Amino acid sequence: MSGDRVGAAPRKAEDPTLRAYRLWFEHTRKCDDCKRVRQASAGCEDGRALWGTYRLACVGHSAMDGTSTTTETPREPS
Ligand SMILES: [Zn+2]
Repeated sequence: MSGDRVGAAPRKAEDPTLRAYRLWFEHTRKCDDCKRVRQASAGCEDGRALWGTYRLACVGHSAMDGTSTTTETPREPS
């Protein structure tokens, strides 16, 4: 067999949680409102909606997958 190195699993589909986080993160880079605030919940409507999607994805993910090892809270923009 080849290409089965540990930690180098091929990407079939992007993790919905990561995807939601990336969408929010990209928004905060472009949005003046969200760039300034210290917490996602204090951002603009779009930012809060994106953050809410991410939080929901987190909850759904951990509810369906009890083996999740990612318990770290992602950093919010400062
Ligand atoms: Zn925003």
